[in-house]
Amino acid sequence: MEESDLLDKLIHGKITSDEADDIGSAVLSDTSQTTPAHEILGLSQKEWTAYAHGADFEDVAYWRQHGWPYRCFVCGRKIDSDNFGWLAREFGGKIQLEHIACPKAG
Ligand SMILES: [Zn+2]
Repeated sequence: MEESDLLDKLIHGKITSDEADDIGSAVLSDTSQTTPAHEILGLSQKEWTAYAHGADFEDVAYWRQHGWPYRCFVCGRKIDSDNFGWLAREFGGKIQLEHIACPKAG
């Protein structure tokens, strides 16, 4: 399978969100691959992590284009998305970031 930049295609409207999901599933189900799935799809480790947490490719593409959330939606404190102390979770119909060890999370 050819390597591609899935998010870039989404951002530029070359594929739909559904098509992105199909491509992602196809790569993930291809067990003959030795290249990590996120590399084939052109996602960074951080983008792939968010996807693995349940963010859609569309959400991650939006973050790549417009910038990542920089505050925890639970406590409002700063999150540095380049450092992996966060979880991507749906909150109020939107994927947002939360500290893994959030002081306010119950
Ligand atoms: Zn927090």
